[in-house]
This record gives sequence, C-alpha cells and structure tokens, in this order.
Amino acid sequence: MEQRRLFKGKRTRTPGGEIIVRLTGVRKRFDSDTLALDGVNLEIRAGEFFSLLGPSGCGKTTLLRILAGFETPDAGRVEIAGRDMDGVPPYRRPVNLVFQNYALFPHMNIFENIAFGLRMKRLPEDEVRARVGWALELVDILGLERRRPHELSGGQRQRAALARALVNEPEVLLLDEPLGALDYKLRKQLQVELMNLQEELGVTFVYVTHDQEEALVMSDRMAVMREGRIEQLGLPEALYERPQSRFVAQFLGTSNLIPARARAEHEVETPLGPLRVLQKLAVGQDYTLSIRPEKVRLSRRGPNGGNRVTARVDDIIYTGAENQYLLDAAGFELVAFTLNSDIQEPGYEEFDYDEHVVVHLPEENLVVIHE
Ligand code: ATP
Repeated sequence: MEQRRLFKGKRTRTPGGEIIVRLTGVRKRFDSDTLALDGVNLEIRAGEFFSLLGPSGCGKTTLLRILAGFETPDAGRVEIAGRDMDGVPPYRRPVNLVFQNYALFPHMNIFENIAFGLRMKRLPEDEVRARVGWALELVDILGLERRRPHELSGGQRQRAALARALVNEPEVLLLDEPLGALDYKLRKQLQVELMNLQEELGVTFVYVTHDQEEALVMSDRMAVMREGRIEQLGLPEALYERPQSRFVAQFLGTSNLIPARARAEHEVETPLGPLRVLQKLAVGQDYTLSIRPEKVRLSRRGPNGGNRVTARVDDIIYTGAENQYLLDAAGFELVAFTLNSDIQEPGYEEFDYDEHVVVHLPEENLVVIHE
C-alpha cells in the first residue's frame, strides 16, 4: 500500500496541554508473589504521544488495562480528563484500546466492525455512515469495508482496528503493541502513519511497546518500566543520552558500563586507568560510567592520556550500516560502532582483527550513573 503522508521529520513539539491522565500511587497485585504495579505515579498531557517501554512482565499491559477499566487497582487513584475513574466501567471512559491481535469481530464485515461502537450509542444511521466513511479514509482502507477481517492483510486489519477505535473519538487512545504482529517494513511504514495521524487528530496516545527503537522514534515522552515501577521518564533523547541507571542504559540500546571510583572532583579510577568526566563527583564514591558505542572514537594512532587507552580488536561485526568492534582494553571489554561511510571520506578508517587501536572516550560522552 502506498504511503499516504510523508514523514515530517523529527518531532520537536512538546505538548503543553492540561494533564489528561494522572495516576497516583497505583498498585496492583495479582497473587501473593506477583506485584504487577508497585506504586506508579504518572502524568500525561493532552495531545501527547506517550510510550511505556520495558521488558516482558514489567507491568505495561496491566497499566493500560487499568486505564481502560478492565482491571481495578488495589490502591491509588486514576484520573482521566479530570474525572476520578473509580467505579467507572470501561464503556463509560473517554478511552479506547487497540490490541496487538486486532480483536475485530470475525463474523462482521469491516464497516460493521467500525460502526459497532456508534450503533451501541444509537447514533442515527446517516451519522454512522458519515463517521465510518471518515474513519475508513483516515486509515486508508476505503473500498475494503465490505470484506470480513480474514479477507484483509495484517496491516489492513490493524488499520481497521484503529478506525474502530478512532471513530468513537476517544480523548485517550491506548495502544498495546499495535504493530507487534507486523513485519519490519510494514511496521516502519505504519509507525510514520500513526505518528502523523496522532498529530493530525491531537488525540493523546498511550502506547505500549517493547521495541525500544519504536518508542524512541515515535514518542514525545516515554517511560521505561521495571518490575512494576517507572524507572525513568522523560524525552526520548534524555533517556537515551542521559540514562540514570544501569538498567536504562542497558535496556535502551547498547552501553559500555565502566565501574569507577572518584579520586578527584572530575577524575575517576577505572579498570581502563584514570578518566576525566564533566560532572562534579564526591571523592571516594563509587559510580558507573556509561558511554554509547557510537560515541567511542577509534583511531590507529594518537596521543595517550586525555581519556585515550589502547585496545586490541577482538571481533568485528558487519551490520550493513555499521562496523561493530569488540575491543579488549587491558582485559576490559569495550564495544565501539563506526559508521560504514564512504571510504574516500577524510578520517575514515577500518581496523583489522588483532590490531591495536587507540580508543578515545571523550569526557563529554561519559555519563555518570550514581549506582
Ligand atoms: P509483556 O511485554 O510480556 O506483555 P507486560 O509488561 O505488559 O509484559 P503485564 O502483562 O502487565 O506485563 O504483567 C505484569 C505481571 O503481572 C506479570 O508478572 C504477569 O505474569 C502478571 N499478570 C498479568 N495479568 C495477570 C493476571 N490476570 N493474573 C495473574 N497475573 C497476571
């Protein structure tokens, strides 16, 4: 299917709307040893594309189901659009949920699937037709409305599921891994379309995924969850560039984590030798330094000192766009990614197995983690 809208580039907008979703101290225990949510506090603004990311079992789906009203929290408060949701059933909440497995009614055609919620509200037939037409066009499946779900492709089915949710004009759309069942290319295309759709409609999206790249690309803000708690919340670039825990540094992308002890305000002792950092440290305190592999600089020659160490190339993985180098720096393992750019470019270097290289860990790229 042809892509309907062009990617508008990186989203720079920070929605400044009112708080539309507010969770305060939300806890949910399923049985004696499963604490699915452990005191979650969260505020989401109107018009935001907000993603929840985290490993399997960390509580993402439970949080969405609590917002949708399919689960009841044991403690805490859930407010949506300024109203306390305690005791409000799912169909009276200003939200709709889109699942990974589409959940379309198999015996109804696409038109009837999309019209279902409107018919429940007993809207006049003219309005039902007009709204379903609008939704079909919005998600680009006009012409497929007489088919049954099994007569559509996976991508078309997910478009139909989206149309069925959006036609009800929810204030908040909850999406539980909606692209999880689709192949890579289709997922990429639908990511862009979903972002554009969200921006066009201004509906708040709460989006659950375990695909970190998807969350980084699509979200205005995102939260990384761990064992029923929010580990870190913020702009995608803040979480990637300034992880506050080893967990976030490792969960989002790849990180080199280097144990360190401060021996001066801006200097640490590490297994790689002394390194300088920009942040001010407490002398004698233990920290972890994190540096992304693409921020490690490699060269054949160079001066020593100034956060430069020598290492041996142990392995090289060619991934197409990048060369990934596994390095041994005096027994400490480091990973460095270099862009597989034009060999004619000044400064472009490739390295061989067993070669000794100079590894530069620029101080501005070293993130100090307090654990
Ligand atoms: P995934 O990415 O695998 O979907 P998730 O982050 O969405 O995981 P949840 O589905 O919210 O995780 O589950 C959180 C925890 O609660 C898990 O340990 C899970 O086994 C448990 N859990 C979820 N639903 C139930 C239930 N209905 N009964 C018992 N335990 C449950």
